[in-house]
Amino acid sequence: MFQKIVIANRGEIALRILRACKELGIKTVAIHSDSDRDLMHVRLADESVCIGSAKASESYLNIPAIISAAEITDAVAIHPGYGFLAENDDFAERVEQSGFTFIGPDAPTIRLMGDKISAIKAMKTAGVPCVPGSDGPLTDDPQTNLDTAKRIGYPVLIKAAGGGGGRGMRVVHSEAALLNAISLTKAEASAAFNNDTLYMEKFLQNPRHIEIQVLGDGKGYAIHLGERDCSLQRRHQKILEEAPAPGITPEQRKKIGAACVQACENMKFRGAGTFEFLYEDGEFYFIEMNTRIQVEHPVTEMITGIDLVKQQIMIAAGEPLTLQQSDIKITGHAIECRINAEDPTSFTPSPGLIELYHPAGGNGVRMDSHIYTGYTVPPHYDSLIGKLITYGKDRKTAMVRMRNALDEIVIDGIKTNIPLHQALLRDANFINGGVNIHYLEKKLKI
Ligand code: ADP
Repeated sequence: MFQKIVIANRGEIALRILRACKELGIKTVAIHSDSDRDLMHVRLADESVCIGSAKASESYLNIPAIISAAEITDAVAIHPGYGFLAENDDFAERVEQSGFTFIGPDAPTIRLMGDKISAIKAMKTAGVPCVPGSDGPLTDDPQTNLDTAKRIGYPVLIKAAGGGGGRGMRVVHSEAALLNAISLTKAEASAAFNNDTLYMEKFLQNPRHIEIQVLGDGKGYAIHLGERDCSLQRRHQKILEEAPAPGITPEQRKKIGAACVQACENMKFRGAGTFEFLYEDGEFYFIEMNTRIQVEHPVTEMITGIDLVKQQIMIAAGEPLTLQQSDIKITGHAIECRINAEDPTSFTPSPGLIELYHPAGGNGVRMDSHIYTGYTVPPHYDSLIGKLITYGKDRKTAMVRMRNALDEIVIDGIKTNIPLHQALLRDANFINGGVNIHYLEKKLKI
């Protein structure tokens, strides 16, 4: 096992990684920006290194500074968490070239999945169902593009191969608007992602977002850990997730899970990954693969009893993945509410001093958060300040526990989106289960 790991992230996920390291007997190095000295995991880590100023480009995205921190502390591996450099193939490559282990897939796999066209191609080969669309990139020939759209059927979605974060896509409802939409998206993609390659997909009108968690050993063996439903989103940002997904049958899970496992085995996927799907009328359509730990991983941990971050670290250390598919038993139901420091109606960020923090507790309640009374949420980063997770023998129990936990938790001094979650947990359609990706925005009337 590794002797010492650098945690190349901040906030709740840095603390989550630190806890996994402690359980595995691994020493930890916290790296942080100069505005993050008071982070909980910085206090708890064996060592800490300030790597730059508050601006992420000078600290959490500063590759030479992170690698230097690993060098001066004699660490042997780097965990990227999520966001920041977690899916940056260049970072993964430079970490390995500098003699450290990158806790995640190798750089070519990150690159393969980072390009949406090559990702879709790999999925089709493995038998993973994809959205009907153009076979590869769009050409410069207008007639060919018009023919492609006609074949797929309107509405279609023009997407950038290098897009991310919900940007670089445009819906087209009619033939008259197609060519203009293609040239606009091309110009935007070129400016935003430095890659003007586009492709086309059928635009699904009312899908749910359902994703499959996988673990692979990097040698061609992989398993899946079932699905999560992440349909409650605002501006493509997930707000609340649950597992298992309401209404998905064991047969459906087995079939889509097996296709994801096949894709992992084909690419010799190493570590933890997620296959994201849109789900409509009983069918799954692949949209992208994330090659890192996800924010919402705890709901899968709760229903499977498997610690995904520990698995990630053990796989990276070269330990065999001893879990068999038959070991993965899904028991009960888990819900996660992302607690953000923001106004619950306007969604404007609300950084500042937390005057009082009292976490929720009790049976089946888990709070993954780095905040404490007296902690100041800085204005420089993502507004996520914690994840409240509840577990129960069934969905109803998990919901009751979540309602109680949301009513119990106290975070004074800043605004949070807890009132939004309280409203959602009392919403008849959410309680029924299976709302689509537009539901939250419609409810919020935006
Ligand atoms: P990104 O990498 O930018 O997150 P994705 O391909 O994951 O891009 O898509 C982001 C979101 O856009 C999805 O969660 C979904 O809401 C919407 N979306 C993507 N593809 C389609 C599609 N074919 N039909 C309808 N909505 C889509």
